[in-house]
Formats: sequence, C-alpha cells, structure tokens
Amino acid sequence: MENYDIIIVGAGAAGVFMSYELTKADSSKKVLMIDKGAPIEERQCPIKRGLTERCIRCNPCHIMNGYGGAGTLSDGKYNITTDFGGDLHVYVGEDKAMELMEYVDQVLCSFGGSEAKLYSTASSDLRTLALRNDLHLLSAKVRHLGTDRNVEILKKIFEYTSKKVEMRFRTTAASVEKTDGGFKLTTEKGEELFCRDLVLATGRSGSRWIARTCEQLGIKTKSNRVDIGLRVELPADVFKHITDEVYESKLVYRTKQYGDLVRTFCMNPYGEVVSENTNGIVTVNGHSYADPALFTRNTNFALLVANRFTEPFHNSNEYGESIARLSNMLGGGVLVQRFGDLIKGRRTNEHRMAKCFTAPTLKATPGDLSLVMPKRQLDDIIEMVYALDKIAPGTANEDTLLYGVEVKFYNSTVPVDERLETEVKGLYVLGDGSGVTHSLSQASASGVHVARLLA
Ligand SMILES: Cc1cc2nc3c(=O)[nH]c(=O)nc-3n(C[C@H](O)[C@H](O)[C@H](O)COP(=O)(O)OP(=O)(O)OC[C@H]3O[C@@H](n4cnc5c(N)ncnc54)[C@H](O)[C@@H]3O)c2cc1C
Repeated sequence: MENYDIIIVGAGAAGVFMSYELTKADSSKKVLMIDKGAPIEERQCPIKRGLTERCIRCNPCHIMNGYGGAGTLSDGKYNITTDFGGDLHVYVGEDKAMELMEYVDQVLCSFGGSEAKLYSTASSDLRTLALRNDLHLLSAKVRHLGTDRNVEILKKIFEYTSKKVEMRFRTTAASVEKTDGGFKLTTEKGEELFCRDLVLATGRSGSRWIARTCEQLGIKTKSNRVDIGLRVELPADVFKHITDEVYESKLVYRTKQYGDLVRTFCMNPYGEVVSENTNGIVTVNGHSYADPALFTRNTNFALLVANRFTEPFHNSNEYGESIARLSNMLGGGVLVQRFGDLIKGRRTNEHRMAKCFTAPTLKATPGDLSLVMPKRQLDDIIEMVYALDKIAPGTANEDTLLYGVEVKFYNSTVPVDERLETEVKGLYVLGDGSGVTHSLSQASASGVHVARLLA
C-alpha cells in the first residue's frame, strides 16, 4: 500500500508551483505528483519536429500534457493582474492574489526569468489612443519568457523539486474514493495510492475527468463560459508600435451591432500560430520565442467573444466543441482565410493563398470561416478588426490571415473556499481545473497558496 501525505494530480503550472513551494518550505511531508503526460525533455509535438504538417492527435497531446502542463510549450507570458486571467482574487482577496503572482514572478526570475523584460501598461499612451477609438486597454504587468526560456526555467524547477517531491509521468488518475483517513486514488494502470490531502490540478485537459470526479464525490459544479473566436496573423510591423511598448495588449471593444464584448487575447509578436488538441478537438493558438533567431515576421493574437448560457442549455463547452468540430470536419483541422476573402464572401483556396503577401506560420486548410462561425460572433470579430485598424492601420488589410476556430474552454467552476478546499475536507482543486483561474500567473499562484497552507 503506497501512502502519502499529499498527492498532487497534474504537473501543470499549479502543480509545479505547489511542488516548488513545498520543497522550499522544507516540509517533512511525503508528496507525490502524477501527470498523464511525459517528462519535460520528452515533450515534443510531431508538428514541431517536422514529422507531420497537421495535428495527428497524439494521446496525450504534448502541447497540453506533461511536466509544466499547457504552459510548457506556450509563450510563457505571465500576466500579473486581476483584471483578467481568472478570479483568484475573489477567493483569496485582491492583495493576496497580487502578492502571490508577484512571488511567482520572483521565483521565475530566480531561475533565469529576470533576463526577460517586464512590460507594463501603467504609463502607456496606448490607453489614450485606444480610448479615442472606443477601445479599452486592460491593466497588467507582463513578463514574456518565450517558449525556449520557459522550457529551460521549468527544467531547473524540476531539478530543484524532484529531490523532494516524487514524480510519476504517463500516470493517469482514474478514480478517487474518500477513505477514513483521506483518499484513495486509483490510476489507469491500476495502482492504488493513498493520501491524507488530495490536490486536483488537472487543467483544461482534465476538464471531463474533474467534472466526473466531483459528481462522484457529490460536489456540484457550475457551468462556466466559453470563448469563441479566430486567431489573427499579420505582418509584425502593423502592431510594432504597440507590442514594442506593452508587448501584450488586452483591448476590449463593445460592438455597435450587438453590444457584445470582443477582446484581444494572447498576443505573440514575431510568433507562430499553432494548433492544439483538447480532448481530440483541434483548435488554434499561438506562441513566440525569446530568442530573436527564432522570430518570424508576423504577429498573431486571438479575437474572442464570450458566450454564457442559462436556460435550458448549460453546457457551454459543448457549444464551443461543436463549432470546433465543424471546422475540423471541413478543414481536417484548423481553417485559414484571408480577411479580404471573408469580407467578399468567398472561400480562400490554395490559389488565393499562394498570392497572399502574409506568409502563414501554420499549415492550415484554406477555407471559408463563415461556414463554421455563427453569424453573431463572426460579425463581432469583423467589427473588432475594423476597430483595431484605427489604432493599428493595416489590421483590416486584404491579406490579414484569420485562423479558426480558437476556443477558450473554461472548466466548470468547482465550489471552493478561500483555501481552495472543496466541501470534501482535504480535497483541494487548483488552477484552471477549478474554473477559478485561466492563466499561468494565477494558476501558479494558486499552487503556491495551497502549498503554504499544507506545508
Ligand atoms: C498553446 C497555449 C499557449 C498558452 N499561452 C499562455 C500564456 O502565454 N500566458 C498565460 O497566462 N496562459 C497561457 N496559456 C494557458 C495556460 O497554459 C494555462 O492557464 C495554465 O497552464 C493552467 O495551469 P494548470 O496547472 O491549471 O493546468 P495545466 O497547465 O493544463 O496542467 C494540467 C496537467 O494535468 C495533467 N492531467 C490532466 N488530467 C489528468 C489526469 N486524469 N491524471 C493525471 N494528470 C492529468 C495534464 O497532463 C497537465 O499536464 C496557454 C495555453 C496553451 C494551450
């Protein structure tokens, strides 16, 4: 019988920072962290290795799973803010949330992150320019590590924590049972692991599992929103005056036609568009490197519209999945269309794509996004492209590329208290898996918070 004081399920941002803080606290607790993905050095997307041009649906997906979680091969943008990226402040308080995120930043810096610049929107003229054009700039400090530096930092954190915390990879949690003294966790391989405190930090890729587990333990989760949108890719020069100053700008616009809010999300100057596979559904995302030798000539960012449902439909993720599935059906994966073609109501085909001045950084299927995106969200996005064109002329060019679909799935919200503990005592749910956080900074901060409570 294998007994632990604490078991952490999921070695993503939340799990990594929880294990770091437990190691640093030099707690005498016996800790195990498991993850269904691979160790960091074995995480390689076949597209990146040049083995395939399109997503071949690895199981589990290397982009989403393994040491460092969805953050490892990401852009590594740590936004220190409570304006977006989750609701951690609602649970732990505004000051505490900011202190935890600043602390995460310090830890990253101590492992090599200080070489990356910390950008801030605090004294930016961009706010005024945006306001004059009906756009709203959200406040944040952001440290952009870049995918390459991010991986190096995570490898160092792994080295530090693995001396103290036992870690098992390619180990999937299957079921959780409450026992007298804590919990029994059974893995897909049939291992039976026992612990007093159980921490679930399974991120977005564990969304279905966590919903099922909560249901089995009698914890009622609440449906969250789903964000649907497209990823925009254009020559980096178009946004250079903005990205040079604040790196990532979160701009929000209320559309005239529907009064919906559209926002920019995950801006990647000189970056690459990538595909990602969540529960077998291929969607689009983006990242960029810190090393200028790896820069592309393009900037990419998402334009997202939030969707919430009340009666009689509750499953917002299913709505997002259905739209993504439609794009997968038509394009075999991600679709790409020139903005000019979308406005003219015609498909972008290989011939038109070949004439495009903007060279795509992702091999996607040229197609017609209006056959996939619901009219309302597509109208919202087109209106936003024209709004952005006022502060970054060139955004609405014919050859601006739109990739679809980008879906931001949010896990159902698990009811937790300020300790991020559920009504089942000793069971903690952190990071994006809880529906409380949606970002690297906040997920990592939630890990530090619970580690301090348990150490
Ligand atoms: C391509 C991409 C780029 C991104 N870029 C940014 C960015 O620049 N800035 C930002 O703030 N956010 C970014 N994000 C979002 C960010 O990665 C997440 O908010 C963050 O990783 C959440 O951390 P987490 O620990 O909660 O979950 P995750 O990082 O998703 O980790 C969860 C882990 O749990 C494991 N797991 C799941 N189910 C099980 C199970 N049953 N058993 C065992 N293990 C399991 C998974 O394998 C995974 O490793 C990006 C996401 C993607 C996909």
